Amino acid sequence: MLAQWLAKGHGRNACRPSRPLFTAKVSTTGLKTIPFNRTHLSENELDYLAQAVRQGSTSGDGPFTRRATGLLRELTGSSGVMLTTSCTHALEMSAILLDLRPGDEVIMPSFTFMSTANAYVLRGAVPVFVDCRPDTLNMDERLIESAITDRTRAVMVVHYAGVACELETIGELCRRHGLALIEDNAHGLGGSYRGRPLGSFGRMATQSFHETKNVQCGEGGALLLNDAGLVARAEIIREKGTDRSRFFRGQVDKYRWVDIGSSYLPSDVLAAQLTSQLESFDKIQFLRHAVWRRYHEELADWAAENGVAQPMIPDGCAHPAHLYYLLLPDLRERQAFIAHLAGRGVRAAFHYQPLHTAPAGVRYGRVAPGGCPVTEESADRLVRLPLFADLDEAGVASVLDAVRTYRVG
Ligand SMILES: *Cc1c(COP(=O)(O)O)cnc(C)c1O
Repeated sequence: MLAQWLAKGHGRNACRPSRPLFTAKVSTTGLKTIPFNRTHLSENELDYLAQAVRQGSTSGDGPFTRRATGLLRELTGSSGVMLTTSCTHALEMSAILLDLRPGDEVIMPSFTFMSTANAYVLRGAVPVFVDCRPDTLNMDERLIESAITDRTRAVMVVHYAGVACELETIGELCRRHGLALIEDNAHGLGGSYRGRPLGSFGRMATQSFHETKNVQCGEGGALLLNDAGLVARAEIIREKGTDRSRFFRGQVDKYRWVDIGSSYLPSDVLAAQLTSQLESFDKIQFLRHAVWRRYHEELADWAAENGVAQPMIPDGCAHPAHLYYLLLPDLRERQAFIAHLAGRGVRAAFHYQPLHTAPAGVRYGRVAPGGCPVTEESADRLVRLPLFADLDEAGVASVLDAVRTYRVG
């Protein structure tokens, strides 16, 4: 599926057909305000939900769980895919699988969602926060080495906006220091680095299907295991620490409590919704890319005139149009810009607040040498524009108009 996707030129910045292949089902025309996000109703979503409810069994690991898992395997190239109740829970599973001990350190960006850190703090580990690059807002690969100590166990990367981190450099660094590479790929489903899907680089990777992500089932996630040696234990951790999966396959005659674990298996009803969303992946991506590209092209002059930075996509990275952001000159301008857009009925949003200065980040983590000045500044300057599959022509025009009537300074 990913191969077809890339072959069609999606996810690239190169020329794309200008003729729309699909039309949005739910129009945003006529809405008084343009929301920041709105879920897309995919082709078979309601049918599959009805089927799941009627099938007489709604707990996890049913027929739709198998279908969604298969689709994710195709999309990510990962053979060990496990649906979970959220990306947060997939991260918690990864922390258990790493056998982290109190005091072990995990290197990660400060510019990320709190779950990236929280999952490891729950195991007693210490997040070590590294600054980001000013151009991609991804963890700065040049700053990782100086954050490594003899307690470091893993390096956690987050592909911000689905734009890949410098995976070659970071992968090589992890191999040299014997550290596990983990990808929080919540933004990156369908993205790639030098032709290879994101989520296939780390020993483990996590996905989110929260309603704000490109493909969603309200609340949901997945753990991708790229190390076959982890699969058997992951199955147990996901099933409350029991060997219930083996029991259902007839491999053991009763199931027992064999390890630590929790309840990380989603209902087959959520998997039904997710199956339909994943089957509509190409369509959703086509629609999102069309919006992303228009913002990028049609705001270029305004951005240059006003000292506003647009996203930078490095060579070799194909991103999945997860979000479109702008970097205003400073916090005051950013706040005024959000208020200006709101006054014109456009809901825009800032994003992550640095973890190294958050109350829990200070209590449980530590900041890498040199601090995180770029993260602090970027978090103040960043604003995300509405971006969702059903944002139609008129909606995009309203956003563009609202943005271009703002003058910096
Ligand atoms: C959304 C997100 C999460 C959490 O996802 P849930 O499925 O809501 O738990 C974690 N990390 C990143 C980078 C995210 O964007």
